[in-house]
Amino acid sequence: MVYSNAAIEISGKSQIVGVMGWPVEHSLSPQMHNAAFTEMNLPFVYVPFAVRPANLETAISGLTALGMRGVNLTIPHKEAALSLVHELDESAARAGAVNTIVQKDGKLKGYNTDGIGFLKPLSNDGFKFEGGRAVILGAGGAARSAAFALVAQGMHVTLVNRTLERARALAEAVNEWSSNSSVDYVVLNSDESLRQIVGKSELLVNTTRVGMHPNETEPPPVSEEILHSGLFVYDLVYNPQETRLLQMARELGCRTLNGVRMLVEQGAAAFELWTGLKPDSSVMESAVLKGLQR
Ligand code: NAP
Repeated sequence: MVYSNAAIEISGKSQIVGVMGWPVEHSLSPQMHNAAFTEMNLPFVYVPFAVRPANLETAISGLTALGMRGVNLTIPHKEAALSLVHELDESAARAGAVNTIVQKDGKLKGYNTDGIGFLKPLSNDGFKFEGGRAVILGAGGAARSAAFALVAQGMHVTLVNRTLERARALAEAVNEWSSNSSVDYVVLNSDESLRQIVGKSELLVNTTRVGMHPNETEPPPVSEEILHSGLFVYDLVYNPQETRLLQMARELGCRTLNGVRMLVEQGAAAFELWTGLKPDSSVMESAVLKGLQR
């Protein structure tokens, strides 16, 4: 991945932000953020940091030592970072993971912008949440952000996962927080029971890694019979931009959305936390799409 951006000027006034991951070479965040900093003429530079898990604590405390404005965290650091900041925003506490740190006056605050990133593309597309039903495939980190976000918007959610225990634990966590039983769960095994649940739902969200590069050709996480044309199908995978699930849904007449705009909106929310300014998300999206073509 190429990070050079000829328009970025580094001076004594430059502020550094970045992403810590292991590995981190695949990240599209440097192009995405640097494009927005350049477009807004802001004195910020976004840098990838390949941080081994054993070095995470030292790297995070280095943010203060170096006077950095903050960082994003990606796999495998999001959960470990929870105990490495001075304060947690409710978004991070709920998600059980930190994807953005802001440093101010030597204090580090952890946030999670995945929930906002997940919701915004849906609301921008005019999706109506209140009182509706959603099915989430998967019960990992992305499912957690999606489940909290949808329940907060007044939706009923069914979690469908191949490991029942993980779905149960997530359902319990969301139900405890929302103080009503908005989430239930089933195991991913029978097409018929899944068809009935999806048949009553307006939204199907894929948060599993099925169909993600380099496994584009693997069978979709659900079969075609389960879908119906009234369904909005949201696949959080962004590479490829059209998974087999999305292709199948589009051919059936469903409204569809891939994970590119979630990636952009979670980044835009982090950008705003660091700079206090709203970026032009179309500039960030173009940078991501360009990065995906490489
Ligand atoms: P994760 O925590 O590892 O969870 C993965 C989930 O997928 C688990 O529930 C797992 O089931 C399930 N799964 C994995 N392989 C499966 C298979 N072959 N069949 C059925 N279920 C399977 O991962 P994550 O962090 O939530 O990320 C999941 C996906 O979301 C990735 O594709 C990631 O790129 C995408 N994502 C996108 C964005 C974005 O901005 N667009 C942000 C975050 C994540 P078990 O519990 O049974 O193992």
